[in-house]
Amino acid sequence: MLRLFLSTIISFSVILSFGQINGKTDSLNVNDPLIKVTLLGTGTPQPIMERFGPSILVQAGGQSLLFDAGRGCLQRLRQVNLAYDKINALFITHLHSDHIVGLPDLWLTGWLVSERKAPMDIFGPVGTAEMIKHLQLAFAYDLKIRVEDDKMAEEGSKLLVTEIQQGTIYDKNGVKVIAFDVDHYPVVPAFGYRIEYNGHSVVLSGDTRYSENLIRFAAGTDLLIHEVSIAPDTISKSDPKYHILAHHTTPEQTASVFNQVKPKLAAYSHISKLYGSTEQEILKRVKENYSGQVIMGEDLMSFSISNNVSVSAWQKK
Ligand SMILES: [Zn+2]
Ligand SMILES: [Zn+2]
Repeated sequence: MLRLFLSTIISFSVILSFGQINGKTDSLNVNDPLIKVTLLGTGTPQPIMERFGPSILVQAGGQSLLFDAGRGCLQRLRQVNLAYDKINALFITHLHSDHIVGLPDLWLTGWLVSERKAPMDIFGPVGTAEMIKHLQLAFAYDLKIRVEDDKMAEEGSKLLVTEIQQGTIYDKNGVKVIAFDVDHYPVVPAFGYRIEYNGHSVVLSGDTRYSENLIRFAAGTDLLIHEVSIAPDTISKSDPKYHILAHHTTPEQTASVFNQVKPKLAAYSHISKLYGSTEQEILKRVKENYSGQVIMGEDLMSFSISNNVSVSAWQKK
């Protein structure tokens, strides 16, 4: 693990210094990697400071696409210096609140502070349009007063919703987003996403149990970001938290997924640890069953995908 981490950091610094030699620091310039992925929040509903709510930023082809809007995603976007008006689209995996509770803040505060002028596209499961309609009603007073008093551009407050089904749902300037069904029953539908650009790809599991459909859609991907849930072996089916484990994927099950998908790198996000279980236990249990490269995600960890996948932990500037 340490060797993987060091070598990936080294390869990331090579790319970074190459960019600096050319005097360009914009994360989307042509000298940068083909796809950049940043874990904005790697947590669960638990309100902890170390892991904010689920949200992942994928940048490719000059576009910035956001996947889920969990708690704190706007603050994390500020940390990576990306304003709300630079987000091209938001993709929602499913309507559990931990994946969308950051949306009102992202949308309204984002509009206010970035002075966004254009509507934002939102893609999500059936029910997304209803949720957005009610958010717009809930915040009708603010929407009105910001236009009247702060002279905000009304267009910038608009959200354009597309309810999706499995398949290619977005194809712009060479960046393709493919939604696929995962198994988060009784939450139906729930989606994972595969993002492709220039022969490379990243796959995001969303919330899911072990899913054969995910394995099919993730085939050949460079980077697989998968959720995980761990509990002590002693947990029984009558335990009140057993259903959490049953709705998600255990470390051993992720090992089986990784063995079949064979990504260049697998990483965990949406890390659910029950009854005092730890990240170290997750890594121990996956490594007993999977010999490929796997890394524990952290908030603001980023990945650069070109002919190889490099990783960089967050370093406060
Ligand atoms: Zn969920
Ligand atoms: Zn969740």
